[in-house]
Amino acid sequence: MAEKKYYVLPDLPYAYNALEPYISEQTLRLHHDKHHAAYVNNANNGLKKLEAARQSNTELDIKALLKDLSFNVGGLVLHNLFWDNMTPATQAKKAPSGTLADVINGEFGSFDRFKKEFTQAANSAEGSGWAALSFCKKTRRPIIMQVEKHNVNVYPAFEIIMVLDIWEHAYYVDYKNERAKFVDAFWNVINWGKVNDRLEMVIKEGNQS
Ligand code: MN
Repeated sequence: MAEKKYYVLPDLPYAYNALEPYISEQTLRLHHDKHHAAYVNNANNGLKKLEAARQSNTELDIKALLKDLSFNVGGLVLHNLFWDNMTPATQAKKAPSGTLADVINGEFGSFDRFKKEFTQAANSAEGSGWAALSFCKKTRRPIIMQVEKHNVNVYPAFEIIMVLDIWEHAYYVDYKNERAKFVDAFWNVINWGKVNDRLEMVIKEGNQS
């Protein structure tokens, strides 16, 4: 039987201080090395628990285990996307171009309207969660998700192309209780080129399926 694969924690695609002054080095070190790493480890531990129970053919609390696994896999996947859709402010463009700009304008009417709705989704999420821009391959329309925790309110099979983490661990060191300031800061460090690449990949896959 093929060797089982597990999740790995990817390195950040930039230095820990690269997103300053919008996101501090301290925040990125904690967020990536501790929080993200924990989701990866816990997801792998969940997989190993399933494997162990199957090998010994023993009962497991499958309800609790699957809930836990969904939370941790959701967490690690969203963090991978989050790091990838940011870039140092000196290299970030102010707004998207190309296919992404066309899709956003087609759905929301303007970039400003999209920015407003995404910002509201991020600011109004209760407790821990994410704002995410996703794309439905059936309707070929983008749609904003307001994800609770890492895995609630997700539309199955929609492709997520851009995310913003609004868990307190994402901003408390830098902005204390002022989440809205962190959400505003995010717009300075978005890697629109990467988000556009992701969207084009999703559209291409949609054409084939
Ligand atoms: Mn996080």
